[in-house]
Amino acid sequence: MDEYQHILVAVDLTEESHHVARRACKLRTVSHAQISCLHVIEPLSLAYGGDIPMDLSTIQEQIQETAKIHLAEFAKTLSIPEENQHLIFGRPETEIHAMANQIGADLIVVGSHGRHGLALLLGSTANGVLHGAPCDVLAVRVGN
Ligand code: AMP
Repeated sequence: MDEYQHILVAVDLTEESHHVARRACKLRTVSHAQISCLHVIEPLSLAYGGDIPMDLSTIQEQIQETAKIHLAEFAKTLSIPEENQHLIFGRPETEIHAMANQIGADLIVVGSHGRHGLALLLGSTANGVLHGAPCDVLAVRVGN
């Protein structure tokens, strides 16, 4: 099997991200690959539309600032250089695919909760990433 050249690790910045990242790092070591990380911020306007009659821009800016700090801390633990740290607004599945294309990633690493029942029917980010992915996808089992 060919070695991976560029691994994209998608992180939701929860505690579980570290477990996902450790897997990505092991693959980086064996493949001598480059590694990039991505966190996607879902715009509040997308989630709530016109449901909340107030200006959400200040809250959105605070969310962005906090995410930026957490992503940088996360990237530091993996020695990911700043140019390989990506913070994007949008829907996670869509933006993860777009970023994989943009950087020419040949492997996307995501966490997977192995949901079942109703939660499975509702779908998960890992499922969404798998469908239509431009490259291989590794779903690292997290949680229970
Ligand atoms: P979920 O299905 O939402 O529990 O998320 C499973 C995995 O999808 C996470 O472990 C991440 O790898 C990825 N993911 C979820 N949300 C995001 C996000 N906002 N940005 C980047 N990756 C995400």
